[in-house]
Amino acid sequence: MSADLRTRALAYLRSGAVTVLRAEAMAAGPHLPEYVHAIVRGFRSDHRVLFEAGRWSCSCREDCAHQHAVRLVTGHPTPIRPTSQQSTTVLRRI
Ligand SMILES: [Zn+2]
Repeated sequence: MSADLRTRALAYLRSGAVTVLRAEAMAAGPHLPEYVHAIVRGFRSDHRVLFEAGRWSCSCREDCAHQHAVRLVTGHPTPIRPTSQQSTTVLRRI
């Protein structure tokens, strides 16, 4: 996984470019949403990110920074998520 993908995904989150329109879990409680619909404002156009039937997709292409930004913000697993040690460091810094 390239560091560039992670940098771009975090930049989308930081700049407020990610809007989650719908995130639904089938059962009550702290579950990851099984359905996610989000819009990521890109440099040239908006990108529609969908998670349904266990699959992520984006209107631009299969594996992009838009999709990983939405995975991060909805708690879904993504290879670009920092390790738990790094997360702890970030929390301490805040
Ligand atoms: Zn995309």
